[in-house]
Order: sequence, then structure tokens, then C-alpha cells
Amino acid sequence: MNRVIGYAAQSASAPLGPFGFERRDPGAHDVQIQIMYCGVCHSDLHTARNEWKGSVYPVVPGHEIVGRVTAVGREVRSFKAGDMAAVGCMVDSCGDCAECRDGLEQYCQNEIVFTYNSPDKHTGNMTYGGYSSQIVVDQRFVLRLPDKLDPAAAAPLLCAGITTYSPLRHWNVGRDSRVGVVGLGGLGHMAVKFAHALGAYVVLFTTSPEKGADARRMGADEVVVSKQPDEMARCANSFDFILNTVAATHNLDAYLTMLRRDGTMCLVGAPENPHPSPGVFNLIFKRRSLAGSLIGGIKETQEMLDFCGANGIVSDIELIPIQKINEAYERMLRSDVKYRFVIDLASLKQ
Ligand code: NAP
Ligand code: ZN
Repeated sequence: MNRVIGYAAQSASAPLGPFGFERRDPGAHDVQIQIMYCGVCHSDLHTARNEWKGSVYPVVPGHEIVGRVTAVGREVRSFKAGDMAAVGCMVDSCGDCAECRDGLEQYCQNEIVFTYNSPDKHTGNMTYGGYSSQIVVDQRFVLRLPDKLDPAAAAPLLCAGITTYSPLRHWNVGRDSRVGVVGLGGLGHMAVKFAHALGAYVVLFTTSPEKGADARRMGADEVVVSKQPDEMARCANSFDFILNTVAATHNLDAYLTMLRRDGTMCLVGAPENPHPSPGVFNLIFKRRSLAGSLIGGIKETQEMLDFCGANGIVSDIELIPIQKINEAYERMLRSDVKYRFVIDLASLKQ
């Protein structure tokens, strides 16, 4: 075992603070990574504050991890000490069920192990995430980072990136698509970049009018302020696909009525409290679909990273020392994120 320092929430109401714990020595199939950067996802906040219930304390969040390999097990072939490597939201799954065989480990029927707040069969504790100096992960869940990408700005691709890339691909977004993205936060800004790169016509819906210029720079063709009823009304019956990234409860009908016949709105935002039920007639009359999507599988995550390497896509980030994490959470709650906080783990040593 080796000693690691991290930052943890000790209860739903406590701010995050320093926490020492043990990681396993790398086994035959494991990769040990010195963490350099970790993105700050709104899911980290939901979990640290037990908003989805089910949090087991201490919670060490963080699932947008980039770092350097320090050691590998004897059966590891694709990584060696000194390589850059990345880890996302999952660190293990059964490998055997229909979902795992299809490369969709996030939907594993048996024993999906998330990067934090999942039972850890190696230690008997819960898994502890990337707000820490080091992590040990089975090679099947370690990703390769394209050389061209700035490692700090690439960290958010491991959750915000794949969570938006996967549904855009699943619903075949391309040149002929008219796509709406709801919310310009960590996930939303990646959705705008990906939908634009895939050739779609992209409309961003935001509650923050001052984000409009940034959204256009990222690839939005139009920006609609969702608090303006007349602007919203103009969008009725016009979208093939809407990706909804909002982290708070809101009225889904406002967006469902914007779908064309056979259009789909996919929810990726996962607020603490349920949305009011959508009107059945808004679905029936145009054969519209309301769907959801969870991150993405490992194969698709590598595909997404390679797509980002080929197209020069990274996240817009604000790099922070770990001591600023509680302030970053408060800013995230105010939608004051441009557009992903990333922790520089070098600050842990100070
Ligand atoms: P974030 O950076 O906080 O972004 C959320 C954005 O939603 C905000 O920036 C804001 O954008 C908008 N928003 C916030 N409050 C709103 C309100 N009351 N009404 C309307 N819009 C509001 O969060 P994130 O990290 O992107 O995560 C978003 C959600 O996705 C979270 O619930 C997170 O847990 C979830 N998530 C799901 C998955 C998955 O696999 N499905 C993966 C990761 C995260 P504007 O200022 O532009 O309005
Ligand atoms: Zn996340």
C-alpha cells in the first residue's frame, strides 16, 4: 500500500479539506498514475453534498484525471512509466455482461465501479477519485491522451467530453442536423464544440446572456436567452436533437415543444430533485422522444480523445489550486464557470 494525500468531504455539509489515505500497490494488470490535473464536474458537487443520496463519507471526488504513469504491473503492455495517461468516470466493470461486451461498460449489469463513491473490492473502502496525488487503475480503464492536446485542458474531456460526444454520436448528429444545447457549463460548452465539429447547425440556450459571445466563438450559430419568452417561441418545432445539460430542476416542456416530428431531447443533466413531468401531448403529437444518456464506454472515450486530437478540441478551463475547490463549487452553483475548473494537483504539495 502507499500513502496518498487528497481532498475529501467528510459530510454533506462540510467543506472539502485535506485527507490522507492508502492506495493499493499496482497489481499485474494495474497502471499507477501520478495525477497532474483533475477537472471539477458538477457531479462531484452533487456527490460531495449527498444530493443524489447514497454518498458514503469521506468522499474524494474527481473523475476527469490526467497524469503521468509512474509504474505498471507485469501484464501491462500499452503503458509504461513516463507515459501520459487519463482516467474518466469508471475504474472497473464485470467485463462479461451484454453491455460490457458491447463496449458500454457504463451500463454494466453486474458491478460497475465508478472512480469515486463506489465500493472498492481492493481496499474494502469506497473508491477515492482524482482530487488526490495518485491513483491505481486496471489498464482496461486507462485512456491514451493524444500528444497534441494540452493536458490540463484535456482533463475535462474524460467526463464532460465523453458525456456529450456519446449522445451526439448515438443520435447521428451531422451536417443535416439542427441541434439545441441547453446550458453553457462544463458539459454544455463541450456539446457546442462537438456539435459544431460534427457539422450541425447549433443553437445554445442559456440563462446567462453574457455567455453569448463565448458560445459563438465555440461554434454556436445562434444563442437564445431562455428567460426571453419571445425568443423561445420562435424556436418551436425546429430541432432534430436537443442535448439538455442543466444541473437544476426546470420545465422540460419548454424544450420538448421545440423538437420537430421524430425529434429527441436527451437529458444528461442530473439535478437533485425531479423535473415536473412533461406534458404527454407534447410527445404524442409529433412522435417526439425524451431520452437520457450516461457518460460513454471506454472504446468510445478513446475515439472521442482521438477525435479531439485530430480536430484540436479541448475544454476552456480555469486552472485552480486545490485550496480553492470550495470557492469553485460556490461559483459553479452560480453558473459562474468559464467553462470548467481544473485542479492543478501540484498545489497539493504546498
Ligand atoms: P455546470 O458546469 O454547473 O453547468 C450547468 C449549466 O446549467 C450552468 O452553467 C448553466 O448554464 C445551466 N443552469 C444552471 N442552473 C440552471 C437553472 N436553474 N436553469 C437553467 N439552466 C441552469 O455543470 P456540468 O458539470 O456541466 O454538469 C451538468 C449536469 O450534468 C450535472 O447535473 C451533472 O451531475 C450532470 N452530469 C451527467 C453526466 C451523465 O453521464 N449523464 C455526466 C456528467 C455530469 P447557463 O449559464 O448557460 O444557463
Ligand atoms: Zn462528471
